Amino acid sequence: MSARASVLPVFVPHLGCPHACVFCNQRRISGQSRPVTAESVEKIIRGALEAPTHGAKRQLAFYGGSFTAIPEQMQLELLQAAHGAILRGEIDSIRLSTRPDAVDASVLDRLRRYGVRTIELGAQSMDEEVLRLSGRGHSAEDVRRASVLIREQGFELILQMMTGLPGDSPEKSIETARELIRLRPDGVRIYPTVVVKDTELYDMWQRGEYRAHTVEDAVSLCAKLLPLFERAGIPVIRLGLNPTGELSGGAAAAGAYHPALGELVRSRVMLERARELLRASSAGTEAVLSVPSRLYSQMLGQHRGNLAILQREFSLSSLRILSSPDQTEPLLRLK
Ligand code: SF4
Repeated sequence: MSARASVLPVFVPHLGCPHACVFCNQRRISGQSRPVTAESVEKIIRGALEAPTHGAKRQLAFYGGSFTAIPEQMQLELLQAAHGAILRGEIDSIRLSTRPDAVDASVLDRLRRYGVRTIELGAQSMDEEVLRLSGRGHSAEDVRRASVLIREQGFELILQMMTGLPGDSPEKSIETARELIRLRPDGVRIYPTVVVKDTELYDMWQRGEYRAHTVEDAVSLCAKLLPLFERAGIPVIRLGLNPTGELSGGAAAAGAYHPALGELVRSRVMLERARELLRASSAGTEAVLSVPSRLYSQMLGQHRGNLAILQREFSLSSLRILSSPDQTEPLLRLK
């Protein structure tokens, strides 16, 4: 991923998407339903010009739908508007999200001509059964083929995966993460499944055909996925859907929706690290965990929850967590 990009999001809701992924209601997820036009793109860019970027480059992002699956005329209209802003020096580049089966050499040629730098691919799962039950309409091989093509053509590649889809399991998600790592993306987004109203998944859940992925399911699974990507040097740039007023207001009927899901996952990762360190301790011990300052609040957990869990689980007489600016890894001292 480019360092220090100031992203200007433009949501392209469900436009022309011929598919019906069971979890998708782009109008609700993006929080708007009006079609986007060249004029609205220009308006967003003009609005952003007034805000300081503190040296970051501006990148226009077409999110929400499957950009390269919308009618070609509309793609051209939006790309031309964005490209004009690149030529005027108002933005630096373009990023967009799309489907693996809507990418080929000629599509990529067009995107490059208009200044697209980053392509986000919705892989969602690398398990054929999960893809089929989720109504994705593409295969794992489509993800592999599109990823290789995108990287070969010199674009930045961001892969998106979901957890908790119909037919999914933690083992399948871990295998999906391993497969995505082998495709060497520049970054990954992980979206645990949310049951959004007015979707096929909502109906399946109501009929008892789908068990919703809970926040706890997502936190415990993503706490395994995150270290896999990080150890491979692949940044996880988003964990969980961006909170919106509509989702928080009831459109998220069930599933792993939490406005601070990423924080919960990172705190769980630190809890697991602390458990490993404390395994050598015995009951009644006074323990001091010294952690890099940037990880201090994650180690404490929400409402200092990790502290209470660790003290109870290991029957410690006391547990202190210290923030250390010079450290790179958590360290344990026992008395
Ligand atoms: S391909 Fe994307 S926009 Fe189309 S239904 Fe699936 S998730 Fe929604």
